Amino acid sequence: MFVSDCLEANEQNHLTIGGLDVTELAAEYKTPLYVLDEETIHRNCKLYTDSMAQFYDGNGLVLYASKACCTMTLCKLIASEGMGLDVVSGGELYTAKKAGFPMERVYFHGNNKTRPELELALSCGVGQIVVDNRDELLLINELWGNAGKRADILFRIKPGIDAHTHDFIMTGQIDSKFGVALETGEAMEIIKEAASLPHVQVVGVHCHIGSQIFDLEPFCTAAEVMVNFMADVHDALGLTLTRLNLGGGFGIPYTPQDDPIPYNAYMQAVSRVVKETAASRMLPLPYILMEPGRSIVASAGITLYTVGNIKEIPGIRHYLSVDGGMCDNPRYMLYEAEYDFVIANRCTDPKTATYTIAGKCCESGDLLGENIPLQQAQRGDILAVLATGAYNYSMASNYNRIPKPAMVMVKDGKSRVIVKRETYEDIVRNDCE
Ligand SMILES: *Cc1c(COP(=O)(O)O)cnc(C)c1O
Repeated sequence: MFVSDCLEANEQNHLTIGGLDVTELAAEYKTPLYVLDEETIHRNCKLYTDSMAQFYDGNGLVLYASKACCTMTLCKLIASEGMGLDVVSGGELYTAKKAGFPMERVYFHGNNKTRPELELALSCGVGQIVVDNRDELLLINELWGNAGKRADILFRIKPGIDAHTHDFIMTGQIDSKFGVALETGEAMEIIKEAASLPHVQVVGVHCHIGSQIFDLEPFCTAAEVMVNFMADVHDALGLTLTRLNLGGGFGIPYTPQDDPIPYNAYMQAVSRVVKETAASRMLPLPYILMEPGRSIVASAGITLYTVGNIKEIPGIRHYLSVDGGMCDNPRYMLYEAEYDFVIANRCTDPKTATYTIAGKCCESGDLLGENIPLQQAQRGDILAVLATGAYNYSMASNYNRIPKPAMVMVKDGKSRVIVKRETYEDIVRNDCE
């Protein structure tokens, strides 16, 4: 009945997550509130890790792309699943370190890692750096050299596949700030140069073709292109790359219209392509990495708001305002992301009304959705926005000096705070008098 499996309706017609009544969570922890269901995260992780074992003899590692939602609790949870972690900033790395995440299982991404960030990675002992460009390559060689060490590196490659179209297209992707291009020879050049540097060891290549993708085909094509490139590198430079990181981007259901492919089907399809291509090019099977972010956490999460003012503009629309908005979920504002909404305290009532859901920020574009079918609402109702576990908290801001919401994890019929609600004191903490 709801887009995520962890959501149901109880006898009082209230929405539940992981079996807990969300109106009670809202009363206990106040709103706005992020809620995550631990069992769903665990199940999603297991789908990926099991598929790696089942279809690729476990010769790989599933990394969680922590930018989707990065907290110390989540880092610990991911570590306990035996997975690795993808970080793209000093802040994400610091969070992982502080959570005790095993650093050898961390992959450090980013198109402009700063010197201090790389120094942090070096001192933490980060396992692998995914190098974006030549300047960064030289800087890493220098920093690791000064420390008498050698960095294991992968290169971020633009494989020339744009999956962000209905019929995905090859090439035309050179104009991206991420990585080095394959078709221009740039990628081969940089690997050749890296192979001559004393303080880096090129272990593999990486690509990430996009996000919220519902087809298997772009992933299979990317895998084929990448394995062929690894074989080209072997033939041209006599260098055997052992790791192939195929990125993330697996789609999740935000609305009932979305129909994602089961996550284990990706590994099944991709492993066949990798095996076939490697065999045809006489390349040893690479160790595979994949990096799901959204599909690990999105459907585990909801956001709860209290309904405030409802404003009718006759003949135009009804605005329903909530006690959060673009400050805790900027995704509608950024890319008109679609969500499913429900009045949590009457969750199975028919959706007979239509509202534009507005936030409380001083910005006309501060909306969570437009022309949303919803139960007839009134002030004081609890509005739930579904499938908000990814790219909500991680993209939140303090615009208008609004404190960030708390985050609660539910498990086995119990709830616990995993990120405290910010206070006004937090808001002024770094202000100088
Ligand atoms: C964003 C990103 C991911 C995760 O993407 P999802 O769509 O959340 O699965 C993985 N790898 C890289 C390099 C990314 O930039």
